Amino acid sequence: MMLMKFCKYCSSMMKLEGKRFMCACGHEESAEKITLEQNSSPRKEVKILESDINPLAVDNHLCSKCGFGKAQLVSKGIFVSDEDEMTEYVCGKCGHHDPEDGLKS
Ligand SMILES: [Zn+2]
Ligand SMILES: [Zn+2]
Repeated sequence: MMLMKFCKYCSSMMKLEGKRFMCACGHEESAEKITLEQNSSPRKEVKILESDINPLAVDNHLCSKCGFGKAQLVSKGIFVSDEDEMTEYVCGKCGHHDPEDGLKS
């Protein structure tokens, strides 16, 4: 173990015991902070890759723009002049909107 820390009160070398630095003068410091900071950066990179595709895009629909096979079915509410509820597919990859009834006709 090469991790070393010096006491800010008596400047003697502190001993690492578990997750705490201990000094002969009785001063203690947590060593957990150091390990948390080292681990935080690689985790962020993984999250960026995962958010590339919309996790809500679970419906099978072929995007007319990029050809991606999964899309999110989104309701746009009921129009006053029409009794049918308007729904459309939003591509999970490029975000392109395709009307749901466009495929039937
Ligand atoms: Zn000390
Ligand atoms: Zn698309």
